[in-house]
Amino acid sequence: AKQRGKANWVRYAPGMEKPAQAHAQLGGDLRRALDAGEFALVYQPIVHLATGRVVGVEALVRWFHPDRGMVSPADFIPAAERTGLIVPLGRWVLRETCRQAAAWIAEFGPGVLEKAAPNVSVRQLHDPDFVADVRAALADSGLPARRLVLELTESAVLRGHQVLRVLHELHDMGVRLALDDFGTGESSLSLLRAFPAAVVKLDKSFVDHIELDEPGSAAANARQAVARAVVQLADALGLDTVAEGIENQEQADRLLKLGYTVGQGYHLGRPVSAAELTARLAAEQRS
Ligand code: C2E
Ligand code: CA
Ligand code: CA
Ligand code: CA
Repeated sequence: AKQRGKANWVRYAPGMEKPAQAHAQLGGDLRRALDAGEFALVYQPIVHLATGRVVGVEALVRWFHPDRGMVSPADFIPAAERTGLIVPLGRWVLRETCRQAAAWIAEFGPGVLEKAAPNVSVRQLHDPDFVADVRAALADSGLPARRLVLELTESAVLRGHQVLRVLHELHDMGVRLALDDFGTGESSLSLLRAFPAAVVKLDKSFVDHIELDEPGSAAANARQAVARAVVQLADALGLDTVAEGIENQEQADRLLKLGYTVGQGYHLGRPVSAAELTARLAAEQRS
């Protein structure tokens, strides 16, 4: 039986099909869905903590399945990576993000929206056409390279010098690179020496409960210590920071005190449709 979670999200859950069958079906379904135009992007604001103004957006993919409803990326991105479909899907995400960001900047100016950030999988970095695809997405949309931030996870970036060469090519084009989920990998700090990053995104796991002072709690102290160390290191290296997963004002206040200026999270803005984000940008432009 289908299992319906909150907001009618339908997960590919155990019991729906046998796992191998579900994976095979999901792979075929993804190909069909891409051709049928069932994917859409939502945009989560990246916000200046002190003023609440939007400085950028992260693009997050959604799949509106005709029978299953909205499918979470946590359920289909792994399948898309396994089947290789992440390459054409990721190419679509990149092009659509550039097109939408260029439209917003044309409408509101770069003072209202500075940058747009799609996620990029390791499989895409190994695709020999990736750099050319990025170049074409920028040229076709007219988005200046410095307004594009590619979000990469540490595990993706750690895959050897071929990937590193691709990242340097992108960097030389003026595209900015963000290290996503920072602090969760095994070699975050040494990675920053080799990697031409412009932004580090402090993982949500360090933001969760950061507002709570629990005297004597090693875990609470460690979270704050990591959050502080990351922003100090980033400042020293000239990198921007984004604190992820901020769910209340107390967390935002604590992160501001630790030295973060920019954040992202449900408290600052949930991922919304392009139309809803347009309304927020219009309201900010008027204020
Ligand atoms: P991520 O890149 O770390 O993206 C942040 C995730 O955290 C998003 O989940 C976002 O909706 C969620 N989030 C943001 N603020 C909060 C908060 O305050 N509280 C909580 N609990 N969650 C928050 P989403 O959209 O479900 O995406 C999950 C993951 O799927 C992403 O993690 C990313 O790794 C992947 N993903 C999404 N879109 C794409 C894509 O276009 N390409 C690739 N390769 N991966 C994608
Ligand atoms: Ca991300
Ligand atoms: Ca993240
Ligand atoms: Ca993540």
